[in-house]
Amino acid sequence: MTPGADPYHDIREAIRDLCGGFPAAYFREIDEQRGYPDAFVEALTKAGWLAALIPQEYGGSGLTLAEASVIMEEINRCGGNSGACHGQMYNMGTLLRHGSDAQKRLYLPKIASGELRLQSMGVTEPTTGTDTTKIRTTAVRKGDRYVVNGQKVWISRVLHSDLMILLARTTPIDEVRKRSEGMSIFVVDLRDAIGHGLTVRPIANMVNHETNELFFDNLEIPAENLIGDEGKGFRYILDGLNAERTLIAAECIGDGYWFLDRVVAYAKERIVFGRPIGQNQGVQFPIARAHVNVEAANLMRFKACALFDAHQPCGAEANMAKLLAADASWEAANACLQFHGGYGFAAEYDIERKFRETRLYQVAPISTNLILAYVAEHVLGLPRSF
Ligand SMILES: Cc1cc2nc3c(=O)[nH]c(=O)nc-3n(C[C@H](O)[C@H](O)[C@H](O)COP(=O)(O)OP(=O)(O)OC[C@H]3O[C@@H](n4cnc5c(N)ncnc54)[C@H](O)[C@@H]3O)c2cc1C
Repeated sequence: MTPGADPYHDIREAIRDLCGGFPAAYFREIDEQRGYPDAFVEALTKAGWLAALIPQEYGGSGLTLAEASVIMEEINRCGGNSGACHGQMYNMGTLLRHGSDAQKRLYLPKIASGELRLQSMGVTEPTTGTDTTKIRTTAVRKGDRYVVNGQKVWISRVLHSDLMILLARTTPIDEVRKRSEGMSIFVVDLRDAIGHGLTVRPIANMVNHETNELFFDNLEIPAENLIGDEGKGFRYILDGLNAERTLIAAECIGDGYWFLDRVVAYAKERIVFGRPIGQNQGVQFPIARAHVNVEAANLMRFKACALFDAHQPCGAEANMAKLLAADASWEAANACLQFHGGYGFAAEYDIERKFRETRLYQVAPISTNLILAYVAEHVLGLPRSF
């Protein structure tokens, strides 16, 4: 390959082509209505893009994480928001890595074809937040079923999903050796559960992101819906986080480039005081700095992808990529908004919408502070802070 040639050129072209049918006005209107981009997600699913990480033997395309990350990046770079569907890309990894053969045969081909949507993962709880091992939602085995009680918060895309991965405590915390033990994960069939032990209450929020409070009141789940061994669920969830973080880093990079394209074009054409605003170094430098940081984050994102795809440890790189990319996209978002002056606030420019969307990634799926705590403890060997 020619040095500098983009190995992902064909994927980028195909996604740009698909996204061409869903211009910024489409996402703006959905945002204004607080709707869901059904037609867009259906088009992605039909074209097989959301099954990128599902192996071919289960009907997916068996692409690498690097290739999958380019799909997410391009959606955001085209002005869309992968947050509406990124769960479908990585949640199936839990089933793939830890599910039984029967579970994989039952679910994965249908997820690959789009017949079943696995868009949701229920981990966060209102009282425990990031301190996941203290979750209070319990699943108690009763014969051939588990009975679930408790509450979750910020659980996304539940109303646009058929299945959800649920983390619940199966052994009380005071009966386990380590607090990370005694939790288990389940596949919950939302079509059976909602209204029969599971109540979903949508949370109105700053972004057009379908996210919910969940209330479990004696929800019964068939015992065969347990994934892997009882008590090891926390480790299984952690196993999937590197892919999730790297994919979200790629989304932030797509956002970062989108903001940069917009602000560079505007700074060249907007004339104030008789010259383009982009001729002023006070305007140039923040844009140039954001560009440098997006480019640097992109390198770390591909480093994380390369390690993941080579089955090497990549926790540090995945976390660092997420932090660098979220910071860089937020920096680019601020430069873009700032140098559009008042127009940046007008919905028709899409900047205020993308600004809100990219801000989320300072907090979810893991907040910047918690990444720094991870790097401090696991990369640098500093003493545990919590
Ligand atoms: C739109 C949206 C969608 C989401 N979707 C999902 C989903 O689908 N599934 C799911 O399970 N969760 C989801 N989440 C939850 C998300 O992962 C959490 O909000 C996030 O992990 C932070 O948890 P928290 O909100 O409870 O904050 P808290 O844990 O209460 O923390 C609050 C703040 O304090 C800081 N903080 C806490 N402890 C420390 C410490 N020891 N040192 C330094 N700083 C600290 C945090 O960094 C954070 O900034 C979503 C959240 C949002 C906003």
